[in-house]
Amino acid sequence: MASDKKDNNNDILPFVDLTHQHEEIGDEILRCIHNVIKSGKFILDENVAAFESEAAEYLEVEFAVGIASGTDALQLALIALDVGEGDEVITTPFSFIATAEVIRHVGAKPVFVDIDARTFNLSAAHVEAVITEKTAAIMPTHIFGQPSDISELSTICNRHSIKLIEDCCQSFGAVFNGKKVGSFGDAGGFSFYPSKNLGALGDGGLVVTKHKEVADKICMLRNHGSTSPNQYELLGFNSRLDEIQAAVLREKLKNIDKYNTRRREIAHQYNQLLVNLPIVIPYEDPRGTHIFNQYTILSENRDDIASTLKSQNIESAIHYPMPLHKQPVINKDYPDLVLPVAEDVTKRCISLPIYPELREEFIQTISTAISTMFEY
Ligand SMILES: *Cc1c(COP(=O)(O)O)cnc(C)c1O
Repeated sequence: MASDKKDNNNDILPFVDLTHQHEEIGDEILRCIHNVIKSGKFILDENVAAFESEAAEYLEVEFAVGIASGTDALQLALIALDVGEGDEVITTPFSFIATAEVIRHVGAKPVFVDIDARTFNLSAAHVEAVITEKTAAIMPTHIFGQPSDISELSTICNRHSIKLIEDCCQSFGAVFNGKKVGSFGDAGGFSFYPSKNLGALGDGGLVVTKHKEVADKICMLRNHGSTSPNQYELLGFNSRLDEIQAAVLREKLKNIDKYNTRRREIAHQYNQLLVNLPIVIPYEDPRGTHIFNQYTILSENRDDIASTLKSQNIESAIHYPMPLHKQPVINKDYPDLVLPVAEDVTKRCISLPIYPELREEFIQTISTAISTMFEY
C-alpha cells in the first residue's frame, strides 16, 4: 500500500511515484486484469486488438501494432522499413541509449547530428549536410515529450527519398502543427515502460505507421515471422504486447489527456517558481504541445541542485549525463566526434519530479529548496 510520501522530512520524495495513479484507478485495473484471467487468453487476443485500434484512433494514425517494448518497436520498425547492413541512419546524440542501440542492432550506422540548444531535439538545420547515398533514414527522438521539428524533417526525408522513423517513447499524445507525433513518419515507436507518461504494469510498446505493408510486416516480425500457424516467412522475434498489459493500457488510455494536461500544469507551476533564478527553464516550441514526460532545466550549478535536493530527501535525475556518441559502446566508432551543444547540455541538465499525481505542496517544496540554495 502506498503511504503519503514526504509527510515528514525523513520521507523520500521520489522522482516518480507510480503508486497513486494505480490507487486512483485501481478498481478498474484489477477488474480488467481479472477479466483477462477469466478469459484464459493471454497472448494476441481481443485486448491487444482493441488497444491497437483505440491507440491508432487516439494518435490519428492508420495502423498500430502492440510490441513487447519501445526498444523492440523501434527495431522492428527499422527492419520492416528495410533499414539494415550498410545503411546510415541520422539520429540524435541526446536520447536514451535504445535509439542508437537499435540502429546498430540492424547492422546500420548511426550518424549523430547535434541538437537544438532550446528544444534539445535533433537540429533539422544540420541534417541535410550529412546525407549521403548510404542514408536510409532519419530517426529523431521527441525528447522529454517535446516534439522535434518533425514537419521540416519530413520535408527533408521526402526530398531525399529516405525514411522517417519517430522515436516517440517519451511523447505519447504530444502534438506538432496540430498532429500527434508518430503520425508524421513512415513509422513511430512508443514505449509503455511504467514511468512513461502512458505506462503499463511492466514492459510494453507500440509501432504506428501509415503503410499497410509495414504494419503487416511488423505483425509478422513480432510473432516469429509467421503468417499463419506453422508457416514462417520472415526471420522474426518473440516481441508481442501481452493481453494483461493491453487491458491495463486500455484503461489508462482513457485518462491520457488528463495526465498530459496535469503534467503541463505542473511544468508551468515550476516555471513560475523558478523563473528568476540562474536556471534555464524548459523552452516550449509554440508550434507544438510538450507533454513533459520530463521537466528538465539547465543550470551551471546542476550538481549543487542535485545535492541540495538530496539533502532534503528529494530525488532528481540527470537525463542524460553523457551524449550517446560518448557512451563506451558507441564511442569507439566515433573517437573524435564533437557535438558541442549536446555535450554542453549533458553537463548542465537536471530533471525534477513530474507526474500527474505530484502534490501541489511538493512542487512548492522542491522549488523552494532550489531557490533557497541560490540565496547563499
Ligand atoms: C524509454 C525509451 C526507449 C525504450 O523504451 P523501452 O520500452 O524501455 O524499451 C527508447 N527511446 C527513448 C527516447 C526512451 O525514452
